[in-house]
Amino acid sequence: MWMTDFETGIVNSVMRWRVIMRLGIFGGTFDPIHNGHLVLAEQCREQCQLDAVWFVPSACPPHKLGSAISSPKARCEMIEFAIAGNAYFQLNRMELDRSGISYTVTTLEQIHAEHPAYELFLLMGADSLRDLSMWSQPQRILELATVVTVNRGGEQSPDKSLLQTQLGPSIQSRLKSVQIPHLELSAGSIRQRVEQERSIRYLLPRAVEVYITQNGLYSKGPEPS
Ligand code: ATP
Repeated sequence: MWMTDFETGIVNSVMRWRVIMRLGIFGGTFDPIHNGHLVLAEQCREQCQLDAVWFVPSACPPHKLGSAISSPKARCEMIEFAIAGNAYFQLNRMELDRSGISYTVTTLEQIHAEHPAYELFLLMGADSLRDLSMWSQPQRILELATVVTVNRGGEQSPDKSLLQTQLGPSIQSRLKSVQIPHLELSAGSIRQRVEQERSIRYLLPRAVEVYITQNGLYSKGPEPS
């Protein structure tokens, strides 16, 4: 018995989902999540045909040890507000649920162990790629995931031949670049704007902006008398 095109389409998508899911993993501090993060995730999803993107907030990022970071609860709630309505996006708390420093390689190992059939794509901005050789076990990261990098306003493209020297020739086949509209935006600049009582409107989703105001995040607070 022949299937209609519609039925074949459904069977193909179910098979694809079960056999191999193309999963984007997007780690960061997200303090707060902003439109630069969201454009990065959406463009990578579209251009790499990802079936889902997991936003993985770090508990304790190795490159930000000693910096004050908002609570996991606040960062997760802001992510939930920001991604609401996008069926491809999900919050994943695995790094928050683990104790200790949030190493990306550990996160990828855990996802790979739990979902061996998934094809993993690690999403990051150009600044993060430049520092990849200093991350824990960069070669293993490249075995576990394709690294997808996007241009970032104000950041030079990383030197690919330097990366090849640092990480070996396999980097070429494990690296993919995605072009996105430049947004010269960082969480740090948003925190600074709030502290200086400047507008953050349209730099992040409205619900996240309201959350920041209602919870008094990043503001200096009243001067001690
Ligand atoms: P902070 O200013 O606190 O360092 P951030 O805005 O750089 O924060 P993170 O949460 O540390 O954000 O970044 C997570 C990832 O998002 C990193 O790989 C970073 O390169 C990328 N990223 C952040 N902002 C942008 C942007 N405007 N354009 C492209 N990539 C970005």
